Amino acid sequence: MSTAATHHASTTEEREANPLSVVQEMMRACIQCGTCSASCPNASAMDLTPRHLWRLVQLGRMEKIFQSHTFTLCSACYYCSLRCPRGLNPSDAMAELKQIAARGHIRQYGDTIYFCRDFVDNVRRNGRLQEMTLMAAYFMHMRRPTLPLRFASLGWKLQSKAKVSLPTLRRGAPKLEALFRRVEEMEGDGT
Ligand code: SF4
Ligand code: SF4
Repeated sequence: MSTAATHHASTTEEREANPLSVVQEMMRACIQCGTCSASCPNASAMDLTPRHLWRLVQLGRMEKIFQSHTFTLCSACYYCSLRCPRGLNPSDAMAELKQIAARGHIRQYGDTIYFCRDFVDNVRRNGRLQEMTLMAAYFMHMRRPTLPLRFASLGWKLQSKAKVSLPTLRRGAPKLEALFRRVEEMEGDGT
């Protein structure tokens, strides 16, 4: 079942009362066979296997699910979705967990969420990634005066190897903006 379809199945009120409701609906038919765990190329780096995660989802164990970093390590390869004997879509369920974290239900993912948002905003505004302005925006949002110091030596190394681009003209921005708008329309339609 597609993410879009499951989104329709869960009302806004249900989501507010239970942020996990969409993922629970997606993974309701999981039989705990473990095929997804055995197929996952990133499983060795995960603190919980995908199979274990789906059991916690079924049980509504919000705290345990978001204490784990398993869903953040999913690279959306869709191998588990191809192999699931129940025809489920664990890959989209992982993406939905990322969305729940991003919607602000989960405070400990704040750093990652700011970085992702600033990254996408930067690409959208400039037509390509501009590392310097990305990091400036990220540091500003994080409001931690000592944070830039942690990245100083890495920044210097990258700069000395010409890996960090200086701000350039926004040549690709109009074309990319059209793509961003189209995706926003599709998300609005639930297509
Ligand atoms: S492969 Fe499918 S049925 Fe098996 S544990 Fe994973 S999600 Fe559940
Ligand atoms: S989509 Fe994610 S959970 Fe599934 S096999 Fe790939 S990395 Fe693992």
